[in-house]
Amino acid sequence: MNYGHALRFGLHLPSDADCGPGRLVEVAGLAEQWGLDLLVVPAGTAGDDLEPSTVASWIAAATVSPGLVLEARPATLHPAMLARAVASLDRLTEGRVELAFRGGPPTAASGTADSVAALGEEIAVVRELWNVLDRGLGRFTGRFYRLAGAEKAAPAHDVPISVDGQGQDLLRLVGLRADEWSTGCDAVTLTQGNRAVDEAARGAGRDPREIRRRITIRGGFGERTGRFTGTAADWVNDLLPLVVEHGVGTIVLDAVERDVAAGFASEVAPALRAAADAVLPRGWSGARVRRSAVRARRLPGIDYEGAPPEMAEVVEPGDPAYARLRSGYLRGGAPGIILRAATNEQVTQALAFARRHPGVALSRRSAGHGVSGRSTNDGGIVIDVSLMNAIEVLDRKTRRVRIGPGARWAEVAAALEPYGWALSSGDYGGVGVGGLATAGGIGYLARGHGLTIDRLRAVEMVLADGSVVRADDSENPDLFWAVRGAGANFGIVTAFEFEADDVGAVAFARLTQDAGDLERYLVEWGRAVEDSPRDLTSFVIVAPPRGGRPALAVSRTMVDSSDPETVRARLEPLAAISKVYAQDIVITSYAAAMDNASDDPPVSHGEPVSRSGLLRHVTPQFAAAAARVIRSGAIGWFQLRSVGGAVADVPADATAYAHRDATFSLVVMGGADEVVDRAWARLSPFLDGLYISFESSLRPERIAAAWPPRTLSRLRELKSVYDPEGVFGDNFALTPAANHPGGSTP
Ligand SMILES: Cc1cc2nc3c(=O)[nH]c(=O)nc-3n(C[C@H](O)[C@H](O)[C@H](O)COP(=O)(O)OP(=O)(O)OC[C@H]3O[C@@H](n4cnc5c(N)ncnc54)[C@H](O)[C@@H]3O)c2cc1C
Repeated sequence: MNYGHALRFGLHLPSDADCGPGRLVEVAGLAEQWGLDLLVVPAGTAGDDLEPSTVASWIAAATVSPGLVLEARPATLHPAMLARAVASLDRLTEGRVELAFRGGPPTAASGTADSVAALGEEIAVVRELWNVLDRGLGRFTGRFYRLAGAEKAAPAHDVPISVDGQGQDLLRLVGLRADEWSTGCDAVTLTQGNRAVDEAARGAGRDPREIRRRITIRGGFGERTGRFTGTAADWVNDLLPLVVEHGVGTIVLDAVERDVAAGFASEVAPALRAAADAVLPRGWSGARVRRSAVRARRLPGIDYEGAPPEMAEVVEPGDPAYARLRSGYLRGGAPGIILRAATNEQVTQALAFARRHPGVALSRRSAGHGVSGRSTNDGGIVIDVSLMNAIEVLDRKTRRVRIGPGARWAEVAAALEPYGWALSSGDYGGVGVGGLATAGGIGYLARGHGLTIDRLRAVEMVLADGSVVRADDSENPDLFWAVRGAGANFGIVTAFEFEADDVGAVAFARLTQDAGDLERYLVEWGRAVEDSPRDLTSFVIVAPPRGGRPALAVSRTMVDSSDPETVRARLEPLAAISKVYAQDIVITSYAAAMDNASDDPPVSHGEPVSRSGLLRHVTPQFAAAAARVIRSGAIGWFQLRSVGGAVADVPADATAYAHRDATFSLVVMGGADEVVDRAWARLSPFLDGLYISFESSLRPERIAAAWPPRTLSRLRELKSVYDPEGVFGDNFALTPAANHPGGSTP
């Protein structure tokens, strides 16, 4: 009998009364050094004095990688509190925790119908508290426990629950509710227990492979006096039948002697793994068999069982991690599966999986802040590269840095600051490198340093056919050209190489000004920016009068200088436009200005409605149209950002981002497409082109406006070479050129 689980080896930490905190940490540290997979933190450490979840936190802080099995005695702590403690520790340890119920409640004999029923309710309450997939408060009404509405607490991962013990009722409970059955190591108990557990599981529509089997053993090395004594080979002979014939997947040693634990970890564990591998060549997949409750949330059309087992993580709609990953910062989503890749190889595998699902939507996600893109979807596949977030300095002399797509710009800025470097990115530190650096990158240093893509020197990417290529000025130069402005059409970028800029202290000014005379404010703000040297870049949001408050202009301006006189000279024209209600001007680092992002997972619903346009000058005519739109209340957000300067120094045909002659980038956002479109119609006569990172409409005319005709036709040629079948069709998808093999009609 085999349940398909890779073998795990653990150590039961000592629980004797005189085992103090120092000794616990020492044993845990040794077990980690020896490479054991699990540390079992017993209920009743130090002679019953210490609360296991507190002990587990103590051990967690002193170790890095082993799983922590927190043993809880049923009915000693309210399950809602236990659930919260475990969830917190699981988050603090990034998913290392498991929960094990061991021994019956103190007042009832273990295994009696009532105690088992109470334990069943405990498990149900714990799961209810962890179930953040269903929104709202946790509720439960049972015979022993009642929750009238408790705040839920998400663990970092699907924390397995193990139950220890015997008796038909308890084994039935294991089959119905547990993820692991823990028992002694005699063959008869295992045979009978497995039968009962499997039967109960099948009866409840579960796959028995969902339930691991764990044994706890004692033993010694030296003279052979019985099972688990003698040499490591003797141990292996004793254990192998339990693994092969009884499906044991977790073996925990309960021993205080250091040499026994060391021998178990360094000799028995590898030899048993090898022996089991030899007997069961296809014995375990290592793939997690998901709980039936998770499988019940699967969506049609996706081959879940065929998901690549090598992924860093596969997240399904029933997994706890789904709540954190399903949506983006601005978009709500409900994808069918999220494949998290941490290497090029994994990206290739995820892409191959996606290509086996031709009718299913495919999205790519770096940090999930896409406005224009569709980094989430409904019912489709998401390839998530947020774990590829390393930031590495390749060469100090040339300021060459390599950055993963999942890094966020606040992290990039913080990593470059110690070198006195920066990369102009955007105005929000939570935005990801993957989405922004494949589109453009209009940041606070744009006028002096150009777009983010102007500092890009090479990319590594996975193409539609799964191949991994490098693109720079000499290798695949066409592709490199296309990636800088239309990257999402050509693959999944897995690494970016930039040449960072030398950037010292900067001035960062936040001004809130009267915009009662909207037209005048806009024209003068535009003129002040255009008249200013390039070391100034300014973004302004203009809001109509609301709730008795005057119309306001809220600007964020960076001056690439720390010289007070220069800063004053640059900011005075802006401050002079109208009355200043609030101001905050600091000399700081670029990294400090970018340190403005939340780490909370997004909880967005619905879709943003935004329109982007590029503008040469803020003329009185444009300002009049804009003021009408702002005052009408049709839109909720009106923002102008300065570009021009160094952005315009780059020839229009040098990158796929070609609208180099614009001086300003406009974005408006609102509630409904029709309403925003009507407002936009008043503004569009003044605009030329758009920036794909700020546009949510993917209508053909908007796609056509994203690139000038010559750029568009070159991009379409390249699309027919690199992605003729349109695998990457989620974000401003280009139609491959018709006259090319693989190309379609226009
Ligand atoms: C609050 C906020 C502020 C912003 N401020 C600015 C700003 O100041 N300046 C500016 O230029 N932009 C700004 N943006 C827009 C931002 O640049 C884009 O939304 C960008 O796509 C977000 O990148 P991401 O990796 O977080 O997005 P994701 O949502 O992960 O991805 C968005 C899209 O990019 C593509 N993509 C993502 N990763 C990859 C990859 N590895 N390879 C190929 N394609 C990929 C996909 O089509 C995907 O749908 C802002 C957005 C927000 C939400």
